[in-house]
Amino acid sequence: MELWQEMLRQSVDSAKDLIERFGFDEQAAKKLNSLFHIRINPYYLSLIRQPGDPIWLQCIPDALELEKDGLPEDPLAEDTHSPVPSIVHRYPDRVLFLTTSQCSMYCRFCTRKRKVGDSRKINMKYIQDGIEYIASHSGVRDVILSGGDPLMLTDFQLERILKRLREIPHVEIIRIGTKMPCVLPQRVTPKLCRILKKYHPIYINTHFNHPWECTPEARRACDMLSDSGIPLGNQTVLMKGINDNPDVMLELMRKLLVMRVRPYYLYQADITSGTNHFRTPVSKGLEIMDKLRGYTSGLAVPYYVIDAPGGGGKIPLLPQYVLGRAGKCIILRNYKYEIFTYPDLEEEPAYHQPPMEKPYMRKDGKKVKKVVETITVDR
Ligand SMILES: *Cc1c(COP(=O)(O)O)cnc(C)c1O
Ligand code: SF4
Repeated sequence: MELWQEMLRQSVDSAKDLIERFGFDEQAAKKLNSLFHIRINPYYLSLIRQPGDPIWLQCIPDALELEKDGLPEDPLAEDTHSPVPSIVHRYPDRVLFLTTSQCSMYCRFCTRKRKVGDSRKINMKYIQDGIEYIASHSGVRDVILSGGDPLMLTDFQLERILKRLREIPHVEIIRIGTKMPCVLPQRVTPKLCRILKKYHPIYINTHFNHPWECTPEARRACDMLSDSGIPLGNQTVLMKGINDNPDVMLELMRKLLVMRVRPYYLYQADITSGTNHFRTPVSKGLEIMDKLRGYTSGLAVPYYVIDAPGGGGKIPLLPQYVLGRAGKCIILRNYKYEIFTYPDLEEEPAYHQPPMEKPYMRKDGKKVKKVVETITVDR
């Protein structure tokens, strides 16, 4: 057994552990465990500095998960865009390929709680269907291995999937979405790197949420992957009490760059049942973006996105930099809130930005298609 597998076996992973090691009330511990699995491997556990800190909040269950919040289990309507159980096909040219339900640490804020940790819903049985779906859809040029965490598969299982994907001529790039460099960097072994290298172009998006996760071990794992020619990106979820602070976010983004990881997305927390206590107002995300752009390397600035409730895909949000128009000039402000005007060309613009006060009107005066989804939330 490899070291990472040995470490997984030593995880905190039961209601009994919660009661004995963290003083949970028996009933709450059992309920929490049955609602969404608990697994905290010893590496990630060792990053906790004190109860309630940003590492603790991400991995130790909280009674707030049990609140009846009325939020959906599948806020992104992934299941309605799922032609076979292992595939989510929402965009024209790329798909998510769910390859395992397992993770080395179960994030309490996971948006896919309805499936993750449940091997009846995501498993090897559906892999064949997924590969056949991709092979028979020639428009799919980008396959994103997801789950769960695809690096929970053994090297052998993973290589079998990569090999079969590479046999499909229209698959141009393969992406792997994995939290391992952050939560169990010991998973990144020389053997894994040797395998991945054979199936280039491969991209990896990882998932760091707090600067304390940028440890020497994480850096070693990221270095090994980069040295294998794999470009690394990062997806962060904005969460209350964890990283909803411009200074914390700035430090995280800078530390990621030092590990050769390029910040890619900053997600507004999804409205997933049992995760309401992690949500922040959108104004907080915009404030953070406002304090990144201009103040540090442009490379450190991710896209801030809301994954649209109801399955509309990721929608980018920017602080308001365009203040308006004066004649043919466009009025802008920079990161220091200094005002500039840019003389625009007079021709009718090919691309028309709808004015904010009439967001639902198109240039030709027609109404936009329809409001697809309206979700009301109690608090
Ligand atoms: C996020 C996501 C993708 C990938 O989106 P990019 O913007 O290309 O990174 C693809 N499919 C689904 C269903 C997604 O949620
Ligand atoms: S690693 Fe990803 S899929 Fe797994 S629990 Fe965390 S957020 Fe969910």
